[in-house]
Amino acid sequence: MIIAIDGPTASGKGTVAKRIAAHYGLARLDTGALYRGVALALLDAGQDPKDVAAAEAAARALDPDAIDEGRIRTVEVGDAASIVAQMPPVRAALFDLQRRFAQAPQGAVLDGRDIATVICPDADVKLFVTASLTERARRRWAELEKLGQPTDLVALTALIAARDKRDAERPEAPLVQAPDAHLLDTTGLSIDEAAAAARRIIDAAVSGSHP
Ligand code: C5P
Repeated sequence: MIIAIDGPTASGKGTVAKRIAAHYGLARLDTGALYRGVALALLDAGQDPKDVAAAEAAARALDPDAIDEGRIRTVEVGDAASIVAQMPPVRAALFDLQRRFAQAPQGAVLDGRDIATVICPDADVKLFVTASLTERARRRWAELEKLGQPTDLVALTALIAARDKRDAERPEAPLVQAPDAHLLDTTGLSIDEAAAAARRIIDAAVSGSHP
């Protein structure tokens, strides 16, 4: 079984993907971490994330197992990730790795922006996870506080809105709900409630009873 989960930043898609993977015994790939890994490699090397040739080289050289989880979750890296993610050669360089992952023998959950539309258009179940901008900004703010990176909520909200716009309006693999994806709005839901709602959608879709 392949489950594709897309959605904007801090929508809860990562947490839902983790819970779903554990519940159904599937492998899970956070594809945003790949773009963040490319961005971090560029920043570490003192290169400009807007430099297409450098970004493509970093994407081709990326070792997914060596991505520094502890350093990719900053606002700066997220922003640079959405810049390199606009570049077709970067997306092409990361394509095969994601496709191969989706073929994991036990099945897989992949979460990102273009999973249902580009990476796994034939996924068994597609979810589009979202939440209001206010709630997503508040969640991200709380996460950053926890990571010891306190931020101004108003400025963070503006940054998230700008990143959403960049992701949704880019010509290549934009963030969009696939026509056959089920919408899951997590505004006002706890993690447990969001995960339970996702399981209900998946179970219904797999048993053929979902509208
Ligand atoms: O999901 P996350 O915030 O970690 O993703 C960082 C950036 O990577 C996103 O803003 C988006 O531009 C890019 N991305 C993408 N396609 C994916 C996953 C992430 O373009 N499948």
